[in-house]
Order: sequence, then C-alpha cells, then structure tokens
Amino acid sequence: MTDNALPESLASARERLRRALEDAGRSPTSATLLAVSKTKPAEMLREAWQHGQREFGENYLQEALDKQAALEDLDGIVWHFIGPLQSNKTRAVAEQFAWVHSVDRLKIAKRLSEQRPAALPPLNVCLQVNISREATKSGVLPEGTLALAQEIAALPGLALRGLMAIPAPTETLEAQRQPLAALRQLLEELQAALPEAPLDTLSMGMSDDLEAAVLEGATLVRLGTAIFGARG
Ligand SMILES: *Cc1c(COP(=O)(O)O)cnc(C)c1O
Repeated sequence: MTDNALPESLASARERLRRALEDAGRSPTSATLLAVSKTKPAEMLREAWQHGQREFGENYLQEALDKQAALEDLDGIVWHFIGPLQSNKTRAVAEQFAWVHSVDRLKIAKRLSEQRPAALPPLNVCLQVNISREATKSGVLPEGTLALAQEIAALPGLALRGLMAIPAPTETLEAQRQPLAALRQLLEELQAALPEAPLDTLSMGMSDDLEAAVLEGATLVRLGTAIFGARG
C-alpha cells in the first residue's frame, strides 16, 4: 500500500465497526478493533499506530518478535498472539505478548502460566473453540470447552478472558450468525459456571463476517485484509 491507502482503510474499518455497533444497538465503545498484521511489514504497523491503532494481532512467532523489536519505541502498543501455538514456543509468547487467543489445550496453558514473568500482569487468554467442528481446524470442541476453562481459570499466570473462533465461511448473514451465536452461548455457560473468572471477551468477527459477529456480541473483532489489504 502507498500514500493514503492505510489511513483510509483504517478509517473505513473503524467506520464499519461503528456502524455495525450502532445497527446492533450497542455502545460505540463495546467492541475493540484488533488489527491483524501477519505478513505485513513493521512499517505498516507503525503507520497504523501513528493513526491511533494500538491493538495488533500476529500469527507467526518469529515474525512477531522481529516486529516487536522494530517497534519497541511505540507507546501503548498491545500485542495479541492469535496463531497456532506449539509447546516449544510458549516461553516467548508468555514473555512478549499481552494476549493469546489460540489456547486449546491444558498443556499449553500450563506452560504459558508457568512462563509468564512475575513482573507482568497475568497473560490474557481466550480459548479457541472449533465452533464449526472442522476436522482440519484447531480449537477445543464446544463440549470440551467448560472442562478446559475450569482448569485454565485456576492457573495463576493467566487471566481467562473469553472465547475465540474462526467459523467455517458461509454466504449469508443468517448463516454466519449461527456459529457466532453458539460461541456467545458457550461464553454465557462459562460465565455462569465460573463467576470469579474475568470472562468478558468474545474474539470473533473478521473481514468477511464483522457485522454478524457484532450482532452476536463480539467484543474484539480481528480485521486483517480490511485494514492492511490482501496478503501476498
Ligand atoms: C488472519 C486472521 C484474521 C484476519 O483475517 P482477515 O480475513 O484478513 O480479516 C483474523 N483472525 C485470525 C485468527 C487470523 O489468523
């Protein structure tokens, strides 16, 4: 992207979220825009930051660490890890990120908790749910979510904030809403079962299903293409 492309697409992404919240009868501050910057160069993130963007989502650890080093001088930047996480990569994530959206196993959660530096606040985590039950997709199945949440809520280095999903793509708004509604209901079950946990986050809604996600209560929407353009 060149010239005004990024500021303009960032402004239209914000406007799109604002309008979706308004159409859903929700407060304009009740959902946060997470800029998904995987494969995009650090300078594009810097430009987004200069235009007020603070929350960034990354999928690939080494790429993310390189960008963090290049952008160390940016105040108030908040890093979210949203990609698949192997156990040999947990330490760097525990040390360098504020959020992880892709926790789907107890083993990974325990390592993140143990490796979270004591000087930092607990690592915010969302459980990734395989809400469309796709064989190839990571995530805990809906029926396993409560048991996993109960164990993870007890880990001292983590703050269990909510649920994340990447539903299978569908065409219509109504079809998009179904898995997103199921994720919301699952979060409500967790909130009832774990009243002490800070469960306030529904990480759902991407460039193609933002409106459906906002209608179903998304609090953190993850936009990549809509902000930074197509990935190569
Ligand atoms: C890439 C990615 C996104 C952003 O997807 P777009 O379609 O580019 O908006 C959101 N969430 C996750 C987990 C991703 O990996």
